[in-house]
Amino acid sequence: MTYTPPTAPRRTSDERRAEILAAPGFGNHFTDYMAHQRWTVGEGWSSGEVLPYGPLNIEPASAVLHYAQEIFEGLKAFRHADGSVWTFRPDMNALRFQRSAERLALPPLSTEDFIASLEAVVQADEPWVPGGGEKSLYLRPFMFANENFLGVRASHTVDFYTIASPAGDYFPRGVQPLTVWISPDYARAGRGGTGFAKCGGNYASSLEGKNSAVGQGADEVMFLDSETHTFIDELSGMNVFVLHSDGRLVTPQLTGSILPGVTRDSILELAPDHGLTPVEERIDIHRLAEDIASGEVLEMFAAGTAAVINPIGKLASEQGEWTIGDGGSGETTMALRRILTDLQYGRIADDRGWMHRLV
Ligand SMILES: *Cc1c(COP(=O)(O)O)cnc(C)c1O
Repeated sequence: MTYTPPTAPRRTSDERRAEILAAPGFGNHFTDYMAHQRWTVGEGWSSGEVLPYGPLNIEPASAVLHYAQEIFEGLKAFRHADGSVWTFRPDMNALRFQRSAERLALPPLSTEDFIASLEAVVQADEPWVPGGGEKSLYLRPFMFANENFLGVRASHTVDFYTIASPAGDYFPRGVQPLTVWISPDYARAGRGGTGFAKCGGNYASSLEGKNSAVGQGADEVMFLDSETHTFIDELSGMNVFVLHSDGRLVTPQLTGSILPGVTRDSILELAPDHGLTPVEERIDIHRLAEDIASGEVLEMFAAGTAAVINPIGKLASEQGEWTIGDGGSGETTMALRRILTDLQYGRIADDRGWMHRLV
């Protein structure tokens, strides 16, 4: 599939872009262009076009505004020292996008078309890919029902866009140990629900849990399973890992209510190279609290594309507080973070063929 390149000029001046790239924050600024494909029932996917980034013309009756038939992805484009631009395991995101689409009754988009959209945007917006440091260009493919119809059924018209946003640190304080509040009442997703799909609705239902965590002075919320409220699912947008003193690196097994993170999968695969034993199993929150208190748990961290790997310094709940290790950034946590970012920025060899060149 080939994209028609943009014809419209850039909307952002070179000076303004340089100013934004100096301190991009996260998700605040958007590039000059976006990629678009439309699907219609009977006809399938249109060819791709690169359009100027700008408002969409959506009618008030558009299905997505009422029934939230929407999915998205999140990846980053990294500039390497030689100026080339790469992304990390985009085939994994494409596959997850297909699984999310199926769950939300949206049409599947081929891996080829998914990756073509990333290439189209990053090629058009190449000057927006920051260089140096730990900055990147965050890529946000998303698909939504866009039929003007208020009945409840899968939409006959669907739009797929990819937009881009220069990114610095995800958390405003940079890489600092997080305090995580264990939600006493909310769950993120239930069995048979949409927990494994990357859909906007999951985030809508996580917001109040996150709000109450912030109200408790925490940075993030941890959701437990909806049935027994005993086992860890994940944070609002990141998977969770626990490092034990015997070298086991444990993350909750995928039960359907947990988002299968690409970062999570990559950490599990890299762990043995670094003397760690990756384990996927259910994590009982009471047992975890005991293991933290006894010193058996050495480190905890959160993992996702946006924040990469971020240490968790403390858990808190209505029952008390548990400081992990000395509450600081764990050594293994920061080493894993460095390995992953070194790989993504091309500073170490890509033995597994995980990197995909975009420009
Ligand atoms: C995207 C996401 C993650 C992290 O997935 P990555 O592929 O590693 O970015 C974790 N949890 C939720 C709920 C997410 O939406």
